[in-house]
Amino acid sequence: MEKIKKYIFVVGGVMSSVGKGVASASIGKILQSKGYRVANIKCDMYVNIDAGTIRPAEHGEVFVGEDGVEADQDLGNYERFTDKICARDNYITTGQVYQEVIRRERNLEYGGEDVEVVPDIPNEIIRRIKLCQKKNRSEITIIEFGGTVGEYQLVLFLEAARMMKAKDPDNVFTLMVSYLPTPELLGEQKSKPTQFAIRTLNSAGIIPDLILCRASNPLSDSIKQTISTVCSLSKDRIISAPDVYSIYDVPVNFEKENFSKVVLETIGLKAREKNMEDWEKFSRRIKNISKEITVAIVGKYFNFKSCRDTYISVIESINHASWHFNLKPNILWLDAEKYEKDKNRLKELDKVDGIIIPGGFGNRGAEGMILAAKYARENKIPYFGLCLGMQILTIEFARYILKTEDADSTELNPKTANPVICTMEDQKNKIKNREYGGTMRLGAYPAKLCKDSLSYKAYNRESISERHRHRYEFNNDYRDILEKNGLRIAGINPNRNLVEIVEIKNHPFMVGVQFHPEFKSRPLKPHPLFKDFIMAAKNKS
Ligand code: GLN
Repeated sequence: MEKIKKYIFVVGGVMSSVGKGVASASIGKILQSKGYRVANIKCDMYVNIDAGTIRPAEHGEVFVGEDGVEADQDLGNYERFTDKICARDNYITTGQVYQEVIRRERNLEYGGEDVEVVPDIPNEIIRRIKLCQKKNRSEITIIEFGGTVGEYQLVLFLEAARMMKAKDPDNVFTLMVSYLPTPELLGEQKSKPTQFAIRTLNSAGIIPDLILCRASNPLSDSIKQTISTVCSLSKDRIISAPDVYSIYDVPVNFEKENFSKVVLETIGLKAREKNMEDWEKFSRRIKNISKEITVAIVGKYFNFKSCRDTYISVIESINHASWHFNLKPNILWLDAEKYEKDKNRLKELDKVDGIIIPGGFGNRGAEGMILAAKYARENKIPYFGLCLGMQILTIEFARYILKTEDADSTELNPKTANPVICTMEDQKNKIKNREYGGTMRLGAYPAKLCKDSLSYKAYNRESISERHRHRYEFNNDYRDILEKNGLRIAGINPNRNLVEIVEIKNHPFMVGVQFHPEFKSRPLKPHPLFKDFIMAAKNKS
């Protein structure tokens, strides 16, 4: 029997940040629940090779895969929705595409021909899409394009989608995620921007098969009719995507509009099974939770009104664990820098049930984080340190329990006489030569847990594997003295003897991990450490 290989392109219209990533993840989830093997790909238009060098406050979290890829945050959505591990192949950037084409040209792999932007660049995009399909053996591959139609940099990606469709019309499906504004003055949804966006897509040679219409409310029948007429699509191909209580409602809502029926029919497939019940039950259940739990994220990447994108995996992990205990998470974003200016402001931490210090780079805000960690330790507020948050915990402990006042990390103070957190040996040359891209300690590494630790209790096993992204590490020279004074070394990398988890004894929950557990939490399978952190926070309140 011939293998099924279908491709769904997801293109944005009107404006960005309306949930194209969640829509693509939801499409993956829905089609997976219909019994198909899916893979999601994110294409980003920037010339960067990966997201590792991009400022998180502007572009959102850098998501780290098992294989160490530093990718766009949407890969996190894909993993959370489909529970399928994403890797390097699930992420394509303009930079990667050009780099490969130029590499091949230098190796005389174009047989003496001149290398053209078209078709050689789109061909390389197509090659990468197909490679991802092959590696994942996916029957349906969902390819999301970053940005919106009309942006110049999208042109070559649209051309790739057009070429694939032209060659293989029965196996390629394109949909647009559009946005319908409701101007306050008029109080009604307007479809004109969507109409223009569709025309722009048409001018790239692409006729979409379906439009997902993001708006604050469901679409009225008449507006569906208008879009249907203008865009030459039957009404069942204009799907409402109103604002939702949680992102996990999105696949359920799409299905209410018969999304999978239209898609599968168009690409010539039949549903093999129907198994989204667990998910539906979950999305219903969390809406009825009223008891709140307040968790503070003490960080610094707060350029926008909302920090959702910067800390999305952390936020979702808090959500998953809170919902597990039937608690409604109330997440506060607290700027660490303000504690440096005014210590009295630390008192605001009295009203929170738990504190998280997330990952971060550079010394801005670090002293404020150390003060917050001190406050959490002294006042027995549950504390969970993620990567930088583990290093902060260690510095705080060395400064205030060991009384080593100048204890620091070499990242924060390269001249410190007491580097309790030091530069990893293999990072020294990389930093010196400014080899920054993709050179941190990245991806999944194993750790062994010590049996009498909170972490062992949480995971309920001895061997774990978690994803990393850092250049600095716990300095083993200080291990004995820190341990003697009450710091528990709870997890060790067995191959390199690196400290991966530290815990404070005689505290309800003060745990710091050198890795990023937030990448592995799933809505129906919260991460064990987040679960126990929330449990401790619950017991405090
Ligand atoms: N800046 C720290 C390091 O590189 C922590 C990194 C992080 O939090 N991801 O080690």
